[in-house]
Amino acid sequence: MSAPIAHTGSYYAASANDKNQRPALNGDISTDVCIIGAGFTGLSSAIHLAELGFKVTVLEGSRVGFGASGRNGGQIVHSYSRDIDFIERHYGQDTATAMGSMAFEGGQVIRGFVDKYNIDCDLKNGGIFAACNPGQLKEMEGKKALWERYGHEQLEMLSADGIKDYVGSERYVGGLLDKSGGHFHPLNLVLGEAAALESLGGQIFEGSKVIEVKEGDKARVITENGSVTADYVIVAGNAYLGDLIPTLEQKAIPCGTQVLTTEPLSEALQKELLPKDNCVEDCNYLLDYFRLSGDGRLIYGGGVTYGAREPDKIEQKIRPNLIKTFPQLSNVKVDYAWTGNFLLTLMRLPQFGRIGSNIYYAQGYSGHGVASSHLAGRVMAEAIKGQAERFDVFTRLPQPNFPGGRTFRIPLTAMGAWYYNLRDQLGF
Ligand SMILES: Cc1cc2nc3c(=O)[nH]c(=O)nc-3n(C[C@H](O)[C@H](O)[C@H](O)COP(=O)(O)OP(=O)(O)OC[C@H]3O[C@@H](n4cnc5c(N)ncnc54)[C@H](O)[C@@H]3O)c2cc1C
Repeated sequence: MSAPIAHTGSYYAASANDKNQRPALNGDISTDVCIIGAGFTGLSSAIHLAELGFKVTVLEGSRVGFGASGRNGGQIVHSYSRDIDFIERHYGQDTATAMGSMAFEGGQVIRGFVDKYNIDCDLKNGGIFAACNPGQLKEMEGKKALWERYGHEQLEMLSADGIKDYVGSERYVGGLLDKSGGHFHPLNLVLGEAAALESLGGQIFEGSKVIEVKEGDKARVITENGSVTADYVIVAGNAYLGDLIPTLEQKAIPCGTQVLTTEPLSEALQKELLPKDNCVEDCNYLLDYFRLSGDGRLIYGGGVTYGAREPDKIEQKIRPNLIKTFPQLSNVKVDYAWTGNFLLTLMRLPQFGRIGSNIYYAQGYSGHGVASSHLAGRVMAEAIKGQAERFDVFTRLPQPNFPGGRTFRIPLTAMGAWYYNLRDQLGF
């Protein structure tokens, strides 16, 4: 076995249920489906395929959940980063109806895995979109009406007074409660999914970075010390894929977002901050998100760095926003701070597709990928089984390359985000 690879210095790594490392691939093997990347996209695909009877092999360059799936805010947010009204306007009602019918399914996939495979990941119900100004509150009223049109009923508007029953902060003028949103320990979910796959006979190799994918009737996926010959390949490396598949690299840019975790809070303080233990994200373009952990810490995330640069001092960057939201925490000690990368697309819609006939990919959830990545896994498995209707709803969406090439696409995107952030700050 190769030398152990650390997960990250995150709170999640410190509280992971399983710290054992799996062996690396050594030698040449064959399988039905080879999956590159052991995050939510890769493992949701793998579990669905294994349940359908496929032999599945997952190659993970680092550790299970090393990418965004083991570092994120742990918030189940429904629909897509661009909502269904955008789809209606730009791609027509048929596409909107099809995508709308899947917009709330990712959360069901997660809950299904947790129940079926007994995954211990502190899953709690209820997510809030908190409005920082009246314009955002109006947008949330629109979101509620939109989602209800697509059959999602578990929603409730919160007034300026009403939101105080959920969030102990003066920052918000109201919000939208999604009762079927929720939160969980993401690394423990992804580790539980890995164990579920193995219980179904699937194989996972860690420390097995794919360095080449050779197309063909049987594809060959090559690592430093071995190869996998497969009928199908799924590329699920998302923001950590680098330049393995150049056509995918051009379609999206990795962005960093940072998270910190406080020391455990007293029960009284937990009740004061988040009386009903829901998760919260605000409605800004560069948004803040927070929730309590299973052991009563505040997990607070926000901020974006374009091009996946590691910021030097995460705590100094995030702490001012945390204190702005909860001034009562001005002296709180921060125990953990870390960064992770998500993948942004130009349209802020996920990118699903095929390369040749037997290499599938799903990437670019643009910030909200916890639920969408689980949906992606399900529809890719359906497509490989021969039922591609739902997968192809996504493949028909345009996937333009980011303008500016390698040199300019990151500064250009940062400028765009600066503009949207300014709009939020000025409240228009
Ligand atoms: C800090 C942070 C907070 C977030 N919070 C939320 C949230 O609260 N709610 C929400 O909806 N979304 C959130 N997101 C987004 C969400 O986490 C991601 O969209 C989702 O986890 C993506 O899953 P994935 O499996 O596609 O990618 P990843 O989880 O990034 O997995 C990709 C895996 O592929 C592996 N890999 C890459 N290249 C290779 C290779 N060549 N060979 C082998 N393996 C390879 C990587 O090591 C990695 O493990 C957040 C993201 C971040 C970074």
